[in-house]
Amino acid sequence: MAWDFSTEPEFQEQLDWVADFCRNEVEPLDLVFPGAAYLREPKAKMLADPLKQQVKDRGLWALFLDRELGGPGFGQLKLALLNEILGRYRSAPVVFGTAAPDTGNMEMLAAYGTEEQKSKWLYPLMNQEIFSAYSMTEPQGGSDPNLFKTRAVRDGDEWVINGEKWFTSAGARADIIFVMCTNGMFVVPRVTPGVEIMGFPPNHNHIRYNNVRVPLGNLLGPEDGAKVLAQRRLGGGRIHHAMRTVAQVRLAFDMMCERALSRESHGKVIAEHQMVQEAIADSYAEINMLRLLVLWTAWTIDNSSTREARTQIAACKYTMGKVLRDVSYRALHILGSLGTTNLTPLQAMWAGAPTMAIADGVDEVHKVTVARNVLKGYEPHPGLWPTEYIPAKRDEARKKYATLIESDPELAAWADAAVRATARG
Ligand SMILES: Cc1cc2nc3c(=O)[nH]c(=O)nc-3n(C[C@H](O)[C@H](O)[C@H](O)COP(=O)(O)OP(=O)(O)OC[C@H]3O[C@@H](n4cnc5c(N)ncnc54)[C@H](O)[C@@H]3O)c2cc1C
Repeated sequence: MAWDFSTEPEFQEQLDWVADFCRNEVEPLDLVFPGAAYLREPKAKMLADPLKQQVKDRGLWALFLDRELGGPGFGQLKLALLNEILGRYRSAPVVFGTAAPDTGNMEMLAAYGTEEQKSKWLYPLMNQEIFSAYSMTEPQGGSDPNLFKTRAVRDGDEWVINGEKWFTSAGARADIIFVMCTNGMFVVPRVTPGVEIMGFPPNHNHIRYNNVRVPLGNLLGPEDGAKVLAQRRLGGGRIHHAMRTVAQVRLAFDMMCERALSRESHGKVIAEHQMVQEAIADSYAEINMLRLLVLWTAWTIDNSSTREARTQIAACKYTMGKVLRDVSYRALHILGSLGTTNLTPLQAMWAGAPTMAIADGVDEVHKVTVARNVLKGYEPHPGLWPTEYIPAKRDEARKKYATLIESDPELAAWADAAVRATARG
């Protein structure tokens, strides 16, 4: 019997260590020195590097990468269980060497990079010696890659890139930017002449690439392969976001339940009011539906491939935003006025739900993917009636019992009554 929802005791020990470490080390750092784990200033490094070292010593660094690339090689299912903890804490992904957008970029390098590209960019990214960004979306269109115009033209032993990108997260502080061109994916050092970073939006940069020259060796993967690389990158990124969203909604749920038991109104704790119970019951079911969808998707990736799991990944993508929106809203509501302030994580969590429905591809596009892929497994019904049209099915089934019905009037009456019952509606 292969179905199993249990966790191996040795891995559970790792999970317990991660939970304690995040609660006792990562959360205090987040609260007192926000952002320190992402910064490269000496004082920030002095605070965050010892934590990162503990993670490395424990063999949990760069959790998403295979063993031969320096990660623990856990696979996606175990990564999902770990991300269910890390996603609760702002800096935990970077303290564990698994922060976006570097993770997706590293996955592309790991899958498509030459040995030279890996040693130049993958290993330094993995060690957080450098940071990266991903430039795909353009001002005139994000959801439809056919609208992208940024292009590289070969000139001797260089590629010359021209175009304009929008919403490149962390572009202004990246060392290298992965630029999706209509004819390939290119690695561009941010300081290359011609890379013009606009002042806004502040964290998701608008960037112009004006005659940006890079060596031929900065083409990643095959020429014209950008869409395939982008799919590979975004597929991994989406499922990792979904894993961390499970952590977020569980945090909201914990806050909802704690508050429901702590507060009184109209003579009883609010947990005893039925509408509060409904909020808890609906949230419990929705969180577990999301969680099982994510774990099943992770399992599929481990047992086949990201490509094979693309319908499931798309379903995770639009489900996580919806569950985050609904559960964080209910929790916020149950905390009353306190919930509307920034004194708990709930308001930011709820305000982040629309972002989740847009980043990594808008939900509508993912719903289209799911519907199209699911429909490949179906055919139109052959005649006028659906396959499940009961009178036709019953006529067919009666043939199986024809001899009995003909020989036994009591059984014939019973079968005829079933026909009349359907006719009555
Ligand atoms: C927090 C955040 C971080 C991001 N980081 C990056 C990054 O690092 N690099 C990067 O390149 N991009 C990044 N993006 C951009 C993101 O990829 C795009 O926002 C996304 O692909 C949607 O593109 P758009 O914003 O141009 O919206 P549009 O494509 O203009 O879509 C707007 C709306 O139109 C409707 N719509 C669009 N297409 C369809 C359709 N096929 N069917 C039905 N309705 C549709 C939907 O309602 C959709 O919400 C980020 C976005 C966010 C919010």
